[in-house]
Amino acid sequence: MKTFDVVIVGGGIIGGSIAFELTVRNLRVAVLDRQELMHEASWAAAGMLSPAPDCPAAIPLVPLGRASLALYPKFVDAVEDASGLRTGFRAGGAVEVICHGDAGRELSTLVALHHGLGLACEPLPLDEARKMEPALGRDARAAAFLPDECSVEPRTLTAAVLAGADSAGAALCPGVEVTSLVLEANKCVGVKNSKGEIFHAAQVVLAAGCWSSQIPEAAPYAPTLPVRGQMAALRHCGTPIRHVLRSERGYLVPRGVDSPQVVVVGSTIENVGYEKCITSGGIEKILSAANELVPELAKAEIIETWCGLRPGTPDQLPILGPVDVDGLVFATGHYRNGILLAPVTAKLIGEWIAERRTSLDWDAFNPLRFTKIHADRSASA
Ligand SMILES: Cc1cc2nc3c(=O)[nH]c(=O)nc-3n(C[C@H](O)[C@H](O)[C@H](O)COP(=O)(O)OP(=O)(O)OC[C@H]3O[C@@H](n4cnc5c(N)ncnc54)[C@H](O)[C@@H]3O)c2cc1C
Repeated sequence: MKTFDVVIVGGGIIGGSIAFELTVRNLRVAVLDRQELMHEASWAAAGMLSPAPDCPAAIPLVPLGRASLALYPKFVDAVEDASGLRTGFRAGGAVEVICHGDAGRELSTLVALHHGLGLACEPLPLDEARKMEPALGRDARAAAFLPDECSVEPRTLTAAVLAGADSAGAALCPGVEVTSLVLEANKCVGVKNSKGEIFHAAQVVLAAGCWSSQIPEAAPYAPTLPVRGQMAALRHCGTPIRHVLRSERGYLVPRGVDSPQVVVVGSTIENVGYEKCITSGGIEKILSAANELVPELAKAEIIETWCGLRPGTPDQLPILGPVDVDGLVFATGHYRNGILLAPVTAKLIGEWIAERRTSLDWDAFNPLRFTKIHADRSASA
């Protein structure tokens, strides 16, 4: 019989970070993944660490994003120490560029929104912006500097987190597809896989990304939806790009500072179900946004294209915390922010499992918000 203190379903950045946190707390942890670990959204991400909301629905997430960004330097140090691997963490800020519309008004709104949420953001005159980023294109009409934003390389970060958990004693189990939760009365006592094997645990953490909703007993709490994002990596031999650059149409994330430089460009936001395919329209869209920001990129070689499925939720907020079944905790639905939110998610889940308290208020993200909506709808039907 396989018995652990905690079984985590899903070996992406969220499951991996929670495993890392729990092994530091001396718990016996298993991470189950139906395929090789870290091959889904966490592998596909760009790696921007930006707590700024990308739409009004994401505003309640800002305090959590800020808390997670503040944890990042220590998180990265701990992960790099434990694993001996690098994570590609880079501070230095991001530049937001406005190329269309009433740029002056857009800039004032952007700066006011950030300040209202306690986020650093200053207008950047275009001549200053071009000193910071000499390759910036002529279409830029206004710019702002977001000095606190950072970036990381999600593939190396996730590999390092999992290696750190592994070296601290976590059991990493690829090829284990969880098909159901094992419930006894009102308690979750483990999970069952597609071969009918049971993994017993005092606590089960559901961190299966956009597939969380496919586990029947988890679905009412975690109605996750896949949201496809297409990406490309370019080999750029022109003037190196020093900061994350974003516009209304897309973003560029430089890896390293020397020429030739790899620049990751993204991304589409598509509701096409679980279909993972790269389309000519999707790639055309992200490349044209990239070339508008930095026209020299039109000469860059395309070295890779890929896509991933973000774990979306109906209200665009993550699904975090315990439910009305003992021993069951959720950590999913991180949508566009799972890389940013990994340290704070791991910390909160670790605190809850080990101490039954959390240092931050996470009620807004509790999974029971979905079962309440469901119960209210049934009652009024
Ligand atoms: C194109 C793109 C760009 C992005 N850019 C950024 C960014 O710049 N910054 C940022 O913060 N975030 C970004 N994100 C979002 C981020 O990638 C996700 O929020 C994050 O990776 C979610 O991590 P996860 O561990 O929950 O999910 P995943 O990485 O998808 O991992 C879930 C795991 O669960 C496993 N699994 C599923 N079902 C089962 C089952 N039944 N049994 C066992 N295992 C199962 C899967 O195989 C998978 O390995 C981006 C996402 C995409 C797609």
